[in-house]
Amino acid sequence: MTESVYNKRESRPGTRKIDRTRLKRNHDKPGQRYRFLIQSAFSLLCLWLGVEFYFFIRYLETNGASGWTYRPPGVEGFLPISSLMSLYHFFISGEIHPAHPAGLVILVAILLVSLLFGKAFCSWLCPVGFISELLGHISRVVFKRNLKLPGILDYPLRGIKYLLLGFFIYSIFFLMTPPALEAFLGSPYNLVADIKMYYFFAEISQTALLVIGGLLLLSLIFRNFWCRYLCPYGALLGILALLSPNRIKRNAPNCIDCGRCARVCPSFIKVDKVKTVISDECTTCLQCVEVCPVKETLEYQSLLTRRPFPVKKVALGVVLLFIVITGMGMVTGLWRNNITTDEYLHHQKYLKSYSHPTGTGEIMDYNQRAGSGEAKSKPWEKETDNE
Ligand code: SF4
Ligand code: SF4
Repeated sequence: MTESVYNKRESRPGTRKIDRTRLKRNHDKPGQRYRFLIQSAFSLLCLWLGVEFYFFIRYLETNGASGWTYRPPGVEGFLPISSLMSLYHFFISGEIHPAHPAGLVILVAILLVSLLFGKAFCSWLCPVGFISELLGHISRVVFKRNLKLPGILDYPLRGIKYLLLGFFIYSIFFLMTPPALEAFLGSPYNLVADIKMYYFFAEISQTALLVIGGLLLLSLIFRNFWCRYLCPYGALLGILALLSPNRIKRNAPNCIDCGRCARVCPSFIKVDKVKTVISDECTTCLQCVEVCPVKETLEYQSLLTRRPFPVKKVALGVVLLFIVITGMGMVTGLWRNNITTDEYLHHQKYLKSYSHPTGTGEIMDYNQRAGSGEAKSKPWEKETDNE
């Protein structure tokens, strides 16, 4: 058991002497350096996937004349809803749907990272989280602090991401029948969902541009606006994080109540007021742990062994777990889908006619059509030439 850093006779913060031998040098924050490097590397990887995918689309657009045929399966990581459907399909059938296997493997890797290390995906790997964080830094330079919405707005707005998640979970797990799920996963819309996503950004509408611009602006003013209020993926990971066996623990007798941990926390968690951080908003960024000036006071601990996890091990654990699971997907053949280049060239012609259910009524209709077998031949869309 660690002794208190205070002189025993003086037991109140501000009146107690600090045992200086317990203070640690915390100018160096190697964990935050590793985190920045990992976030940058992961974002560059995503950028590279985007470049490869662009050339693949050029190949389709030029009917093969551009001479590039490689489609990077990693782009399926940007199809979270399709991947969630694949996961449900796996639960009910025991089979991995061949349309977007890499998307499923990436989703499983992210879920396992969250189960073990909390919402670490958000602060160590996610490129959107990285951009949000960079915008937050700019905001701090401009406003000298991170602005936070008042509690009366903050609490209800934080619920939006759970409502969005609830809608997807309800639609996929409760509303869709297994035949409809099977039909949708094999539908042309789902097969080319990645290409549709590409065109969403490549031919972005004015409305979408305004919405994205508004979100960037809000993220600049209010730290992590997208992640804190709107991201349903983050909501899912936040729920799983509550089951994680590892947590930030504060050794209260050692604490000198300096409040640095709470001030540095990008999720505005009152770390200095709790013994254990139990929050769906904690992203295991470990900034609080690294900023704490007293040894053995704030640590990321295993609740099972009660031993602290050094920041380096967390960095290694998050990255290795992700690489090992996606690597296993690659070597076991659960990475590339079974769609041929000729099929992609065929779908490219009809892309604009492919759509998806947009509400519960349409899902019910889809269920009926899938049940009657109609949705098996032409699941959702009519193939109408783009021209
Ligand atoms: S509590 Fe600590 S680890 Fe969690 S988000 Fe705040 S600063 Fe990061
Ligand atoms: S950083 Fe937080 S946990 Fe560490 S001494 Fe200050 S208030 Fe206590």
